[in-house]
Amino acid sequence: MSSDQESVQERSEAARLRLKILDRDNWRCQFCGARSNLQIHHVLFRSHGGPDSEDNLITACATCHHQVHLGKRRIR
Ligand SMILES: [Zn+2]
Ligand SMILES: [Zn+2]
Repeated sequence: MSSDQESVQERSEAARLRLKILDRDNWRCQFCGARSNLQIHHVLFRSHGGPDSEDNLITACATCHHQVHLGKRRIR
């Protein structure tokens, strides 16, 4: 169903949204407060139909992000 072909416009849109989320979360991991290796996590996993909306995105460092996906950390 999903396509691997993303248009350039969609890519820049995603980059813009990413910056918006990082800004909103003050460039800190929302789990441990780290300010490096930041990634964007989908609260409701994209694989479960989670949307690319601000409400569904949260800043997490690589370590916490990994743990969230292992079910070892919970959102707030
Ligand atoms: Zn963290
Ligand atoms: Zn994630």
